[in-house]
Amino acid sequence: MQKITFILVTALSLQLASCATTTADSTSGVKRSQFLMMPASSVDRMSAQAYAATLKEAEQKKTLNADKAMLARVRGISNRLIAQVAVFRPDAAQWKWEVNVEKNDALNAYCMPGGKIMVLSGLVEKINATDDELAAVIGHEIAHALREHGRERMSQAYLQQFGLQALAALASGSAVGGAAVQAVGAGSQLFFALPNGREQEREADKMGLELAARAGFNPNAAVTLWQKMDAQSKTAPPEFFSTHPANQNRIADLKVLMPKVMPLYEAAKKS
Ligand SMILES: [Zn+2]
Repeated sequence: MQKITFILVTALSLQLASCATTTADSTSGVKRSQFLMMPASSVDRMSAQAYAATLKEAEQKKTLNADKAMLARVRGISNRLIAQVAVFRPDAAQWKWEVNVEKNDALNAYCMPGGKIMVLSGLVEKINATDDELAAVIGHEIAHALREHGRERMSQAYLQQFGLQALAALASGSAVGGAAVQAVGAGSQLFFALPNGREQEREADKMGLELAARAGFNPNAAVTLWQKMDAQSKTAPPEFFSTHPANQNRIADLKVLMPKVMPLYEAAKKS
């Protein structure tokens, strides 16, 4: 009986999840169907817990928001971007957004599921980032969250583990409940352990570019940002590339989309 219930639940989840897309169609043209089996509520809860733990640890090390001017700058830029997220998905305007800066030499930034943004000071300082360049990188990270790429990666990993365990259970006739518990427990680590796929990166680049343009940041800064990052990676590989695989065609792709987002930037500047 347990096995049959499990199979039915799994089949139903797959059916519900198979043709979902997290964001509305927009100028960026991002509209790929996504596999989202893990419930958003579980992912957001794990994300909030992991983010709170990161903040607490940084606070103890006295590395949390140590530079008040930098914090104000990063929050100012982020808030302008967040004000535009409803274009892509109205519910995101109601997320419990948080923006913090950690003193850390690594060249990195991330936005966890549900809108938990962290910028490492190394990103701002090492490449001497302009406001437009910071908007490009934070916009890219926000786009990952809007597209729920973390949840997508967790769902794939979950299915792999759950699927294998289920097959083993079917073969041996044992219960499978433990596998689900284990997989959920591993979820928050998966966010950092699983790199974004190339397609997810392309989506974040495109949607991030549009988001920055709509918020009145010059989208051309995305090009100079990646050029600066590239230059840094020649001396020491920045952390950013461990969670964001470098893409040779990244800048070329951005340039293709540029004529479409420039009018959004021009309009935002006037308003
Ligand atoms: Zn990315």
